[in-house]
Amino acid sequence: MIVLETSLNSPDSWFANILEERKMRIIPFFLVLAGAVPAQDTSQTPIVATGGVLNAASNLAGLAPGALATLYGSQLSDGTPTIVFTNSFPRKAGVVTVSVNGVDAPLIYVSPTQINFQIPWETPVGTSVPIVVMRDTTPSAPVAVSIAAAEAPSIFLNDPANGIAWVTGAQCVDTECAIQAGAVYQLWANGLGPKNASSEDGVPAVDSGSLTPLEVPGSPASCQLTIGGQAAPVQYCGAAPGEIIDQINFVYPAGVSATTPYVNATLTVAGVSGSFRIPAPGTPDQLAQQTLALMTQDEKLQLVYGAGGPVTNITALPRGAGGYIPGIPRLGIPDLYFNDGSVGVANSQAPATALPSAIASAATWDTNLAYSYGQVIGAEMKAYGLNVNLGGNTNLNREPRDGRTFETKGEDPILAGKINAAHIRAIQDQHVVGCIKHYALNDQETGRTQANAIIDERSARETDLLAFEIGVRDSNVQSVMCSYNLVNGTYSCENAHLLTDILKGDWAFPGFVMSDWWATHSVVAAANAGLDQEQPDSQYYGSLGPAIQAGQVPPSRLDNMVERILRALFATGAIRSTGAVTAVDTAADQAIAQQVEEQGAVLLKNANHQLPLNAATVGSIALIGSHADIGVLSGGGSAQVFPTGGAALNEGYPKVPGWAPVIWDPSSPLQAIQAMAPNAKVQFNNGSDTGAAAALAATSAVAIVFVSQWTSEGMDLPSLNFTDVIHTVPVDQDALVNAVVAANPHTIVVMENGGAQVLPWLSNVSAVLEAWFPGQRGAQAIANILFGVVNPSGKLPVTFPASVNDLPHPTVAAPTDATNPFPVNYSEGLLVGYKWYDAKNLSTVFPFGFGLSYTTFLIAHAALNDNLRASSPNFQVTFDLTNTGTVGGAEVVQVYLGMPANLSEPPRRLVGWQKVTLAPGATQHLTVEVDPNDSSKPMSWWNIAARAWQVAPGTYTVYVGTSEAGGDLTVAGTLQLGSN
Ligand code: BGC
Repeated sequence: MIVLETSLNSPDSWFANILEERKMRIIPFFLVLAGAVPAQDTSQTPIVATGGVLNAASNLAGLAPGALATLYGSQLSDGTPTIVFTNSFPRKAGVVTVSVNGVDAPLIYVSPTQINFQIPWETPVGTSVPIVVMRDTTPSAPVAVSIAAAEAPSIFLNDPANGIAWVTGAQCVDTECAIQAGAVYQLWANGLGPKNASSEDGVPAVDSGSLTPLEVPGSPASCQLTIGGQAAPVQYCGAAPGEIIDQINFVYPAGVSATTPYVNATLTVAGVSGSFRIPAPGTPDQLAQQTLALMTQDEKLQLVYGAGGPVTNITALPRGAGGYIPGIPRLGIPDLYFNDGSVGVANSQAPATALPSAIASAATWDTNLAYSYGQVIGAEMKAYGLNVNLGGNTNLNREPRDGRTFETKGEDPILAGKINAAHIRAIQDQHVVGCIKHYALNDQETGRTQANAIIDERSARETDLLAFEIGVRDSNVQSVMCSYNLVNGTYSCENAHLLTDILKGDWAFPGFVMSDWWATHSVVAAANAGLDQEQPDSQYYGSLGPAIQAGQVPPSRLDNMVERILRALFATGAIRSTGAVTAVDTAADQAIAQQVEEQGAVLLKNANHQLPLNAATVGSIALIGSHADIGVLSGGGSAQVFPTGGAALNEGYPKVPGWAPVIWDPSSPLQAIQAMAPNAKVQFNNGSDTGAAAALAATSAVAIVFVSQWTSEGMDLPSLNFTDVIHTVPVDQDALVNAVVAANPHTIVVMENGGAQVLPWLSNVSAVLEAWFPGQRGAQAIANILFGVVNPSGKLPVTFPASVNDLPHPTVAAPTDATNPFPVNYSEGLLVGYKWYDAKNLSTVFPFGFGLSYTTFLIAHAALNDNLRASSPNFQVTFDLTNTGTVGGAEVVQVYLGMPANLSEPPRRLVGWQKVTLAPGATQHLTVEVDPNDSSKPMSWWNIAARAWQVAPGTYTVYVGTSEAGGDLTVAGTLQLGSN
């Protein structure tokens, strides 16, 4: 085993020309190495120090043919130090030669005390040979040197004392690299052995334009590099072109532990191995700082605004992306393509898998499945060569008529935060920068650019902001999009309290804040408040340079903006995105889409076991409405996905209030249902003629009415009733359902919509399935549920109120003119969603957390373990869950907490849940653990005076059950916390 212990500094990449400046770097290294210099001999005879001929890479390793050697002595030359090499290696420098076993060696550097030279390839190995320095005609005394085997690899070191290799890369030629997994670096070596070409003294820059002759035989496979136990792919192993040293180009592997600054590495060349140490991967912060240090002011400015056009002149961006910033190739910064992707890859990307709406993902209450959901988005983004995702809509569904409800994760901050965090983690694991938006309190579309959300600090922290806080803390998300609206009088994108105090301060968010599209209102105020990037254009940040020049924005702010953007790229690995477009695994992605819909659809009513339908016995089925013959509805706006296979139907021009067209995904309920019941007569009626629809229902065994509610960015719902906003002559879907059910009591309603609805026909129909916008495998999922192939287990992430009159604000606040801010007063404060109805004792139609199954479950023996005084405090709710029915199914058992009475908190809040699948008759003993230190702050309230989350003394009541409604809950116990 050869110890690859070394020293020296030296060249850069093999593809670059030899640079004079690099040669200058090599020389000081040798000068430092110079040791004991013998006393001057007035006769001018060159004197080689005893033991003064060394391997330039290592004081320990032997000298091999072809290797760079250094020789120390005195009176070696008469001049000042000379770099004698250019692109060839002379054997004589002035009057000086060095002969090795009688052959004049190629020279690199000559000074009176040091000469660097190559051991000629023709030197015999395994022998001791004489080395003589000749100065003019005067020779030194010969020095005998042993020549090692030709393959005697030794690595050049940065730190010889600690055996740390000298690693260079695109960003670190002079300084030690902050290493980035996945990036290419170089190691420098002596003695890798003979090369493919016959060995020659000195090394050409390239051989007939090819590097192959310079490689070691069998390279790169014959050179194996292991770093921190991981194999590092070697791309080149051979002579460094134009140098007399060797070079190994390698990819730093992923998965190297970063607990120590250096890790062990082993190089094996043609079976000869040795060990050394190499820097561990740099942190994203180190990598960002390293890159920032190399940037010019213009390059920095380039990263802080989009290259799109103003709203009045929108530029078509490359790749159909929603936003674009050109990269900086010299620093390895890729082009940045920002693309929407809340429910699948949106903007102009097509085709992409249309997933069920994000609210359906929340309705699964399954964070693992939510991860898969995010994985589809991340993988498809990557396949399109896009690297910044603009999904992650975390606005709490405070206003049920919000047209973007389908993009949200519902009304509860903990459920929304956790589901969203799972989406984002998955997206970022695909090396795509994730985003949380729209920060903050962008809870309605009506007048969204003028809406001034008025809310007290405690209510904000415990509701909307808590969902963001969980998302930020749990997902390590690297970008946050500030919203159009104002919060307490200041635009979100220049709101220092939101951006700097809370997000970057309290939550320690390390990534960057980008504006929503054209949501920037200033340069100085925004920059100083914490906005890091204007999108999609440079209307304001185009003046950032002059603002810095004028002293209005400190230069350190620009550095901080850029460092945050770079950090995001390094932390996610998006820095290495090549932009390559690859194939999408459509089948796998659609399978996830179907699974999410099957788990997220919520069975709201099932009188007399109307469902599941029996495929063998149901003779005839009337399918009515909502284009159920060809497709299922999707939500619109920037989240709109153009589905794989093309839309089943585009409609809506010119009537829709949101963003046209209205897209029906290509998933036909008619076909899926017919496939499920091949012997049944399945007929379709489009519902435009209520009488005809009723007539078909009357002659069918069952009727399935598909009702749909188009919603989109850019609109709020006029009411919570199903309202046709698509057609010039609207279809009255409530009337349609009532007519059908009058004709056939076996009427099932399938709803395609984005959030809570009011169902005036509920008591008449026999079954209702909330399918949300079900995605492009929606029909198959719906059919599976209707026929019992899948037992529904989705649970509502939003409350279904009895009427809009029961909402905190029966009317959506609206602007009075086109420009001025108008107040949206969130006077309900903490009472968002179910908390409002509980506090006000308003009965709801379907409570938060509610959903039926084809089986029944029993929760028994609920109890509480109080470990709140332990060093890792928690409390645990234990219970037995039994499937008391006859089919297998899944239940979501939910834990709610009633806070101490004096805190004026809502009656209860969700603090934990578990989704469990059980076979019929099976019982499982289960535990839901609640950690008071979790990011969701389950036991805390926000103390405005202390500016902190606090756990108050008092009595806490713990409930367990199958929805948040009192009737579905039992008390598992109470917790007492003292005053200290
Ligand atoms: C939306 C954002 C979206 C952006 C880019 C805006 O209209 O509010 O959610 O990410 O456009 O498409």
